[in-house]
Amino acid sequence: FVEFERVQKSYDGIQLVVKDLNLTMPKGEFLTMLGPSGSGKTTCLMMLAGFETATHGDIRLDGRPINNIPPHKRGIGMVFQNYALFPHMTISENLSFPLEVRKIGKSDREAKVKRALDMVEMGAFGGRRPAQLSGGQQQRIALARALVFEPELVLMDEPLGALDKQLREKMQFEITHLAHRLGITVVYVTHDQTEALTMSDRVAVFDDGRIQQLAPPDELYEKPQNSFVAQFIGENN
Ligand code: ATP
Repeated sequence: FVEFERVQKSYDGIQLVVKDLNLTMPKGEFLTMLGPSGSGKTTCLMMLAGFETATHGDIRLDGRPINNIPPHKRGIGMVFQNYALFPHMTISENLSFPLEVRKIGKSDREAKVKRALDMVEMGAFGGRRPAQLSGGQQQRIALARALVFEPELVLMDEPLGALDKQLREKMQFEITHLAHRLGITVVYVTHDQTEALTMSDRVAVFDDGRIQQLAPPDELYEKPQNSFVAQFIGENN
């Protein structure tokens, strides 16, 4: 469903920050890109989302090359830590906005917004503004906004980074549960080993612009392919 084939990326024309990336994800998979800061994870998401272009190689979605498709036509939902809600709009207006961009009619919009709010158990909060919600509630709304136009693929970059530990664990459970229930394909970026290992079907361990190992969590534990993976997975666990 999502394919990277021999993808390379350089921002300055000289140094590669993504070096020969190959990855195939089946529909409905929850895949986490895990790795230290600067290893190229966010760059991969940006290329999928359409905010950056690959220097070499192909990226395909559902078999189609996406190079020439603009971001809002890729059918991809996004949740980023700093991808803030619009402060001057109510929660319902925030959720309605991506639907207006897609030219969806008013009554359809209202039904979809209601469904998305119910999905994250925030049905009673549509009339509030973002500043009137807690951090966790805002993050749930960001999730609802990514899901409101029923995307088949959702990208998440450290979406829980700003939350305290208890709330983070609750949201980890909610996100995986919702993704599996809706059959959504998710690419999730984090540098938190525990988060990656508890949430994912497979984990791609990144270092220095390459995937060092791509495997289900238990296999990473039991059979790390090299000393980098063994050490990185071992940290904080
Ligand atoms: P983090 O966990 O810190 O977000 P990351 O693994 O997501 O790190 P990237 O953000 O993909 O890593 O960055 C990979 C490399 O590319 C880094 O060396 C970074 O400085 C560089 N880089 C990222 N974005 C740009 C940009 N817009 N212009 C130039 N260089 C960039």
